[in-house]
Amino acid sequence: MYKIGLTGGIGSGKSTVARLLSARGASVIDADALSRSLTEPGGLAIPAIADAFGARAIDVDGAMDRSYMREQVFQDAEKRRRLEHILHPLIGQAMQSAAATAKGLYLIYDIPLLVESLARYRPIMDRICVVDCEETEQVARVQARSGLSVQAVTEIMSTQASRQQRLAAADDVIFNGIGISFVMLEDRVQQVHENWLRLIGQQKSQ
Ligand code: ADP
Repeated sequence: MYKIGLTGGIGSGKSTVARLLSARGASVIDADALSRSLTEPGGLAIPAIADAFGARAIDVDGAMDRSYMREQVFQDAEKRRRLEHILHPLIGQAMQSAAATAKGLYLIYDIPLLVESLARYRPIMDRICVVDCEETEQVARVQARSGLSVQAVTEIMSTQASRQQRLAAADDVIFNGIGISFVMLEDRVQQVHENWLRLIGQQKSQ
């Protein structure tokens, strides 16, 4: 199946685009949701996390204690690598098994931090599509959605790739910034969708 990595900074409109593509027949694999399910009670990553970080890393329900682990990895790059070393292969396997049973026109991998792990994802994608938005507009949207302070949103954004880094990795760009209404966004999504169907058709006839 044709594989498209969809990414965008927080508040860019990536989830909105994923929904519009799903409505057009794409199979959407949500990397964040898969990742969360690995660290929920009974999740596949729980035993390895307990092994590597101790019982304190698991809460009373048996899920990974997110706030504790956030603190741990925030302070210590080695611990962050250790956690990633546990999660990344499991996320990869979960994405593969979700892909194996997908039935849509093409596959959308919805991956917020795709560009941050480009070396891992580029080889397995046919295309990378970036939902692009001015940083000021990202802040405004996330604030409106979550009520976080400007500082808190800016801090999250500082842990993500820059707008330029994302654009440099893109085969397709869906601009969804200032001045773009939902109707205009839908029109842009329709255009990339039709382009992908054309590319898939060409690939099949080769
Ligand atoms: P992401 O998944 O990239 O964080 P979302 O798709 O959740 O972004 O969009 C962030 C917020 O901005 C949501 O509340 C969404 O409804 C809103 N939004 C997205 N695109 C637009 C747009 N073109 N105009 C106005 N609001 C938008």
